[in-house]
Amino acid sequence: MNGNRKRMAWIAGVVVALALVPAVAGSFTVSLLNDIGIGALVALGLVLLTGVGGATSFGQAAFVGIAAYATAWLTTAQGLSPWLGLLFALLLTGLSALAIGMLTLRLGGHFLPLSTIAWGLSIAMLFGNVDALGRHTGLSNIPALQIGGWSLADPRAMYYLIWVVVGLACLFSHNLLQSRPGRAIRGLRGGATLLASVGADAYRVRLTLFVTAALFAGLAGWLYAHMNRFVSPSPFDVRMSIEYLLMAVAGGLGQLSGALVGAALVLVLKNGLQDVLPLLTQRAGQLEAVAFAALFILLLHFARGGVMGLLRRWTRRRGATQGASRYEGAPVEPLAHRQLPARGTPVLSVNGAVKRFGGLVAVNDVSFDVKAGEIVGLIGPNGAGKSTMFNLLTCTLPMSAGQVRFLEHDIAGMPQRAVARLGLARTFQHVKLRPHMSLLDNVALGAHSRTRSGILKAGLRLDRTEESQILQEAQRQLDRIGLGDRAHELAGSLPLGTQRILEIARALAADPVLLVLDEPAAGLRRKEKMALGDLLRKLREEGVTILIVEHDMDFVMKLVDRLVVMNFGSKLVEGVPSAVRADERVQAAYLGSVV
Ligand code: ADP
Ligand code: MG
Repeated sequence: MNGNRKRMAWIAGVVVALALVPAVAGSFTVSLLNDIGIGALVALGLVLLTGVGGATSFGQAAFVGIAAYATAWLTTAQGLSPWLGLLFALLLTGLSALAIGMLTLRLGGHFLPLSTIAWGLSIAMLFGNVDALGRHTGLSNIPALQIGGWSLADPRAMYYLIWVVVGLACLFSHNLLQSRPGRAIRGLRGGATLLASVGADAYRVRLTLFVTAALFAGLAGWLYAHMNRFVSPSPFDVRMSIEYLLMAVAGGLGQLSGALVGAALVLVLKNGLQDVLPLLTQRAGQLEAVAFAALFILLLHFARGGVMGLLRRWTRRRGATQGASRYEGAPVEPLAHRQLPARGTPVLSVNGAVKRFGGLVAVNDVSFDVKAGEIVGLIGPNGAGKSTMFNLLTCTLPMSAGQVRFLEHDIAGMPQRAVARLGLARTFQHVKLRPHMSLLDNVALGAHSRTRSGILKAGLRLDRTEESQILQEAQRQLDRIGLGDRAHELAGSLPLGTQRILEIARALAADPVLLVLDEPAAGLRRKEKMALGDLLRKLREEGVTILIVEHDMDFVMKLVDRLVVMNFGSKLVEGVPSAVRADERVQAAYLGSVV
């Protein structure tokens, strides 16, 4: 825990230094730090949204503006208290983000960032064109904040409020990232299919994240309005949005501290440029934009991880300590287990499944059953349609025709995450892990659907019992697959074969009824394959049902109770391993392909 203690010392040092600033610094420095604090709040939202969640927003300043105008209007035109203004500002920002998010967050690829520019522009335009908001002159005479009888009109007083809010926002975000919703947010970059396979809805995760980031910007807007006591449209336009993004990128999108460092860097630099550039040219404003553009490009070329990213790489290289190798929390009551169906009852039944990709029929009228407590193997030459079959029965792909029953449910057409929640857990032929998350976190993601805590609970650290239960479960599953002592290593550092096994642990963390494995032994050494076989047999003894695609015939023949053989999309044969091995049609199908 040496590393942790060092970090705490750092944080304590920064807090003490910040607390002392107003006592020793001039009013210029205090104002600059106020601006930095407000910028850091917005950038913190962007670190979560863009850095962790992978959704780029060029419209964050619009949310700052909505909140600033909301509280400005309520406190000037309506004469109400700034504290009501805070509620109103957050409500309006949250609702706007919800509406905008619902309209745009389903857009894929570059369309989402492009749309953020569009609404960023239009909202800023709105401020300049509404009479009640003072058009381009804005709203003035916004009252200063008061806490009890203490006025915060003085920037030195405002300083403390701003930095306490920044501190709390950092704490909230830090808690959030180490929690159930935080893992889902970190999983977003792995794609919707990964999240759906653990029962999470990527769209909802992204939407709540988007609203959270907007609320951070909203808090900043409220502070801004009551600090400056005046709002006008220009500080909320797209140029400012880009500046906020620059702060997050410059500081480092990978760490929360990047928001603080980046805000400081950009604003200090901006101040410096504003002092120096007028000495060089009369067009200082334009040159400032050029300087920032150059900075952006340099960052993207040489330091994508920003300042904090560089710092982190540097400390790693100097051999920073890794910490404990296992999760070692105090024991808690285990997560509730599912009642497994009685051995021999039907778990899965596929009936006349068809999948067409344009003219290609990848799965053609395939039917088979899987009973509780069985291991069934699905085999066939490359391109036979096995992975497609898996995608159909896990509802990862929609079927062209046919039915699938899982337990008592007709699941064809259900969303993948709903099927996962019923107890169907899977692994992928092309591994879907989060390489920058630890083994423990990757496996803990699997328990998503067994637990409940949301963003607010996690941020306020009210989820700790459940979180311990999740981590304890994840450690148990890691022990099961023999990686228990590497819990805190990054998943990306494992060889590919071992990553497949890690996916099994993640699937097991969901407490599944049926485990669907796509080529789990690929890339494993002989000993590892034997260990995997032992694990799967043990799972069968415990009552877990397993459907497995595997190329290694030796491995699969020794393991399974029954085999279904596919060829050219159709079912060729079904039977016990010895019968299938002896079947002429199977031998003919495999002739020429590597068995
Ligand atoms: P297997 O897993 O048995 O090797 P697949 O299910 O991956 O086979 O593929 C079966 C056939 O379907 C192959 O001919 C493959 O090219 C085709 N196929 C698979 N996925 C798609 C897709 N998304 N779009 C078009 N064709 C696909
Ligand atoms: Mg395949």
